[in-house]
Amino acid sequence: ATPMSIMVGVGRGAREGVLIKDAQVLETMERVDTIVVDKTGTLTEGRPRVTEVIATGELSNDELLLLAAAVERLSEHPLARAIVEAAGEKELEILNAVEFGSTTGGGVEAQVEGQRICIGKPGFLEEQGVSVAEQSISKAEALQSEGQTVVFVANENSLLGMIGIADPIKETTPAVIKQIHDLGLKLVMLTGDAQATAQAVATKLSIDELQAGVSPEQKHDYVRKLHDEGRVVAMAGDGINDAPALAAADVGIAMGTGSDVAIESAGVTLVGGDLRGVVKAAALSRATMRNIR
Ligand code: ADP
Ligand code: MG
Repeated sequence: ATPMSIMVGVGRGAREGVLIKDAQVLETMERVDTIVVDKTGTLTEGRPRVTEVIATGELSNDELLLLAAAVERLSEHPLARAIVEAAGEKELEILNAVEFGSTTGGGVEAQVEGQRICIGKPGFLEEQGVSVAEQSISKAEALQSEGQTVVFVANENSLLGMIGIADPIKETTPAVIKQIHDLGLKLVMLTGDAQATAQAVATKLSIDELQAGVSPEQKHDYVRKLHDEGRVVAMAGDGINDAPALAAADVGIAMGTGSDVAIESAGVTLVGGDLRGVVKAAALSRATMRNIR
């Protein structure tokens, strides 16, 4: 390869907000046939907002939100921020929580006013010894079929309710997906979110393959599996929990707005987290390598 052309390519990328680590990354990018993306913060804005609070037991909706916010104040997850903001907007005075614990990709728990409160996906609550009734799961599905994320709230004895959270799809996402398809690339979405939520988003966006309910390790393993099947994979993600998957990809692409850990694991960083950079990187690598040959 001619270093000069590569340097020109890398320079052009930088001017367009696509920071390419080195020549090797640009060369590999040309051979990519599969783009894997994380949903939250990559396809969506990553600024989730609470849309519904549904208490299923004795509590009022506001009391439920208040308990949830007490725990989530100690979490840095985007869903946690949405819940704390919603309580703030209602001018509810947030309670004190202690003995906080979190399971990445599962949920959080803490002690609030003498009660053990846990919030997360049904599987996480079940690990804490609380079962989520079929009826509540169905109630959640109505929200999930609109692409909303639903988190469940429980105390040590039973389910207290659920919170619906919406994270709008970025305005630029549909056009980027069309361009990815026009370049002949396959698009795979990986998410820790529920199957029903992920399916609604995937259908809306014409995503080719989908894996929902996956942990950071499973995201990593899935990217590795695609690679082992002979596919050349670029993975784009923003979170700390996407870092292992980015590292497993042939080309890791970090959203510049995301976590430092993701940026460090990546060969490409997109300034401002603009997903259009994925298409720019693919097109640029093709043009550069064509020049060299
Ligand atoms: P993503 O792949 O969309 O970034 P995560 O792996 O971070 O998702 O989380 C997966 C799921 O775990 C969430 O959809 C939610 O149900 C649950 N979860 C994770 N963290 C929290 C939290 N702080 N509060 C409530 N639920 C959480
Ligand atoms: Mg994420």
